[in-house]
Amino acid sequence: MNHTPIPRRSSLTVQVGQLTIGGSAPIRVQSMTNTDTADIQATTTQIIELVRAGSELVRLTVNHETAAAAVPRIRDALAAQGIDVPLIGDFHFNGHRLLTDYPACAEALAKYRINPGNVGRGEKRDSQFATMIDIACRYQRPVRIGVNWGSLDPELIARLMDVNAKSKTPYSVDDVMLEAMVESAISSATRAEELGLPSNDILLSCKMSVVQDLIAVYRRLATRSHHALHLGLTEAGLGSKGIVASTAALAVLLQEGIGDTIRVSLTPEPGSSRAREVIVAQEILQTMGLRAFAPQVTACPGCGRTTSTLFQELAQEIQEYLREQMPIWRDRYSGVESMQVAVMGCIVNGPGESKHANIGISLPGVGEQPAAPVFIDGEKVATLKGSDIAAQFKCMVDTYVTTHYGR
Ligand code: SF4
Repeated sequence: MNHTPIPRRSSLTVQVGQLTIGGSAPIRVQSMTNTDTADIQATTTQIIELVRAGSELVRLTVNHETAAAAVPRIRDALAAQGIDVPLIGDFHFNGHRLLTDYPACAEALAKYRINPGNVGRGEKRDSQFATMIDIACRYQRPVRIGVNWGSLDPELIARLMDVNAKSKTPYSVDDVMLEAMVESAISSATRAEELGLPSNDILLSCKMSVVQDLIAVYRRLATRSHHALHLGLTEAGLGSKGIVASTAALAVLLQEGIGDTIRVSLTPEPGSSRAREVIVAQEILQTMGLRAFAPQVTACPGCGRTTSTLFQELAQEIQEYLREQMPIWRDRYSGVESMQVAVMGCIVNGPGESKHANIGISLPGVGEQPAAPVFIDGEKVATLKGSDIAAQFKCMVDTYVTTHYGR
């Protein structure tokens, strides 16, 4: 079924390297490294892994001199491998000094993230913020004003709490905190504009770790700003909790047109790939019909009608196979990322669901003949039998791709 596109709420677009963010541009997927930036090899390797998974921008922490000195070398190491992904520098506390002392770092980065709660206190705050904005203007680099719940400017909270306490109709403490988040983002953007940074070189974010808080703060932010918005649930957590919490929060906001670039802040389980956060972000956008990144597999959950694990194994094998092929297919076969593949467990819903897919297979359930009908574009085209059904089906998927998608 075709669905009406959801208009985005931001009207300002930002150019980050070759990418446009905001307005009617596609919602961008970004990620962040967790290596020591000073470790050039480890960081370059992880960025390559993130980019190969589909990350369109990669942020890395720039927290000390050695990290700042490493940034241009990482950029060059990526370029040597043909990778030209926009790198975003994440600065806290000493960004003004690092960007001043390491001009090659300032130049190598495509965007700077500034946390207004961690720029400094009192008079220093204003001058250090101004230094970073001056450098962004000099190098014509966009800036994300990234407010975070965990590092909200205490002076701003104290001022708003004070004003609220004197009000005849005071708001709740939670409401004042939400207001402080939005006020921090908007007043910092206004200050950056006064310092000469163009409005369309500014993105905003107000990250919180509780789903309902995040939804509330972004709704408020989107009504008060036309800037492009970076969206993400901060400190989402481990495993399924992190995935579910991020999906719940982002889905509500994206459906309302809020959010122009997303990051899923998963805590990686020991030994797991950092690229998981990229795949989850892509799957949120693709399952909502907002973008397509890789062919999707529709698979039934299985039930008492499936006696073997064959169909679970086939579903997993096909899903992994499709994703593995994407780095090659993406360039060769235009439109393949929208392909739908069905792997179903029995005759109850198998043929019907398979007919809705571009290519689908209905495996035999309990009591059925040991044969698997295959459907292409709604028509039954073959019945697979034998012990190598998976290999036969993969072969048919390959043929479908090469014959149905443009070169
Ligand atoms: S399609 Fe068949 S095997 Fe799959 S869940 Fe439905 S009834 Fe069970």
